[in-house]
Parts: sequence; C-alpha cells; structure tokens
Amino acid sequence: MTQLKKGTLAVWGGETERFPYGATTPPIVNSVTYAYENLDDWYDVAIGKQEGHIYSRNTNPTVRVLEEKITALEGAEAAISFATGMGAISNTLFAFLTAGKRVVSLKDIYGGTSRIFLDFLPSYKVDVALCDTTNHEALEAEIAKGCDLVYLETPTNPTLKVVDIKRLAAAAKKVGAVVVVDNTFATPINQTPLSLGADLVVHSATKYLCGHSDAMGGLLAGKADLIRKVYQFREINGASLQADPAYLIARGMKTLELRIERQNASAMKIATFLKAHPKIDDVFYPGLESHSGHAIAKSQMSGFGGMMSFALKGDYESVKTFLHGLKLVHLAASLGSVSTLAGPPRTTSHVELTTAQRAQLGIPESLIRYSVGIENLDDLLADLTQALNRI
Ligand SMILES: *Cc1c(COP(=O)(O)O)cnc(C)c1O
Repeated sequence: MTQLKKGTLAVWGGETERFPYGATTPPIVNSVTYAYENLDDWYDVAIGKQEGHIYSRNTNPTVRVLEEKITALEGAEAAISFATGMGAISNTLFAFLTAGKRVVSLKDIYGGTSRIFLDFLPSYKVDVALCDTTNHEALEAEIAKGCDLVYLETPTNPTLKVVDIKRLAAAAKKVGAVVVVDNTFATPINQTPLSLGADLVVHSATKYLCGHSDAMGGLLAGKADLIRKVYQFREINGASLQADPAYLIARGMKTLELRIERQNASAMKIATFLKAHPKIDDVFYPGLESHSGHAIAKSQMSGFGGMMSFALKGDYESVKTFLHGLKLVHLAASLGSVSTLAGPPRTTSHVELTTAQRAQLGIPESLIRYSVGIENLDDLLADLTQALNRI
C-alpha cells in the first residue's frame, strides 16, 4: 500500500481485509485468549508458521489494525504498540540498552524520557550522554566517540527546538548505532523520520494520533528485526495495549491528515499574529522564519505542526491573568487534541525544575505552551486577543 498517499493510508491502513460479519469498521476484540479446534494449527501459530492470535498480551486483532496503520503511515516494515507512549519509549530503551552500552540524546527530550536517562539507565550501567539540543557539532562528536543508540526528538517540548534527523542519522550509521526518533509532535503527516535515515520511530499515540484526548497508547515502527527485538521484551514485561484504546486511536487516525492540515494552518496564523502583538515577548514556532530551527524544519517537515509556545512581556501574574481569561482552551497537560490546550511549562512539563534550571534550558517563567485545536481560526484569534487585552 506504500504507493498510496497518507490521507488514504490513514483511512485504509490495516483495514483492507474483510472483517468478520462484513463489518466495515474494525471489531473490538476484547477476548483475552483464542481457541483452536486443531492442536497442529495452534502449534503452527505458536511458532509463527501460521498467522493468528494466542493471547492478547502478545497480539490482538484490534490492536493489529492500529499497528498496521502506523506501519503504513510511517513507511515502516513493522510496528508494535504499548499501553502508553512511555511504555513504547521505556521498552525500546531497555530492549537495546543493556549493561556497558552507550546512548546519545538531547537535553530537551520529553520529561519522562529524560527521567529514564537520568534516574534509571545509569543504575543499569548504561552510559548516557545528553547534548545541547541544537548543537549538532557536539552531538556528532559524542556519536563519533562510539554509541549503540542515538535517541532524538524533534520538534522538542516546550520551545520547539529542531534537530537535523538526516545529519545525525548519518553520523550514527558510521558507528553502527540504532537511531530512534520520537515523532509525537510532528506526526507522520508532517515528518517521516524513517525516510530521513532513522531506524525506529516512536509515538505517544495519546496525543495527535488519537487526537481526542480519550485514549492512551504508544507505538513503535521501523525495521522488522529491530521491532522484533522490542516485541520480545514487551511480550514479557507486559506493557501491551488493550483493544478498546487501540480502536479509539485507530478511529482517531482516520482523520489525522484533516486535523493536522487544519492545525498546521491555524498555528502558522496564530504564531504570526502573536509575533506581531505588543504584549508578546517571543514566539517559538518552527514555521516562523525567526525561529532558530526554521531552515532544518523546512527541509525535513512538510508542515510545521500545531504546537507552539510564547512568552508574555511580564511576570507570572500576567500569565495567570491571560490564561484565566482564555475561554476556548482547556488549561491542562497533554497536547494534540481537537480542542485547544494550554499551560505554563513552569506548572506542567518542567514543574520539578528551579527557575534557574528552567532559564538554563531557555524556558522563561512567562512561557505558555499552546496546542492549537481544530476550532475555527477566527474564534481562536478573537479569544487570544481578548485575553491579551486583560493584561
Ligand atoms: C506525551 C509524550 C510522551 C509520553 O507519552 P504518554 O502517552 O503520556 O506515556 C512521549 N513523548 C512526547 C514528545 C510526548 O509529548
């Protein structure tokens, strides 16, 4: 199905075979176990000689539909799913990084991932090197020292820093390291890391893929032999996705292209509007020419996404006045939903850091992260205008 365009794959990926009863949507199979009339068939499925399911911790027909959908959209050979995005990330890291191995990654990585790098992997005798996110020379130098895994994320949270996947994947190839990219912010509609040289792409499906903030999941797609290795780990540690959330995520993904195109367009207009607003100090959006990562983003992304952050002129009191004044927004963690979400990194993703530590990461106290929903653009602009006028 690879010759089909993404909007088509989002709908038909994993859904081209007939479902039981002629159902035109994937059945939600909540069965834990699968019965066989013939022991020989059961045996053949168990050893992988025949297609089929045995136990839902390992594989499940509804979950399989979702895995095939992300395989198609990312242009991958195979994919597996997890109960959450962190399930996908931790299983991937722990499957590859055993004692004595070395990983190179970024300082601006997602908070949960960063905890694995700082709090857990070192105690398993894994060497972790976290580099300044946009310093490609430093990243290349660390990779060239030798490593087993290069773990990237782009754009990053909350200041939307951009890293050059092609360039760093090339550096990783030279030392034989596996390249993993967290593609949660971009989604396969805007960016396909595998086509830029990555070996694996990981998603918090909880965000844009699901798109409605009503199901959690994680996905990993890429080379079949690497997926197999992580699958064998997940099969035993049990961070498997259930059929119900798999159905909701696959359902959400059917409108992924429509939602992302809308969010790309609205975010660009909103970022441009905020950039010119007298009460705004700075806007971080990779679509703006003023953004430090704009050139790389332009070369590897087909759209700049629905995530942005901006700093108000003023202190944290102004942030409160502004956010409490917004009407078309959920003040909440998470991102990538049909409804607009906003919050200060000071309270959400970077709450555990001190003001000085946040400053070191380039996160001003008055920074607001804004996840643009699919609402009417004029309504969102009017809402931002009236809330800014309150300051
Ligand atoms: C939310 C998020 C995760 C973690 O996913 P969960 O589904 O919350 O476990 C990982 N990476 C990024 C970039 C995220 O935004």
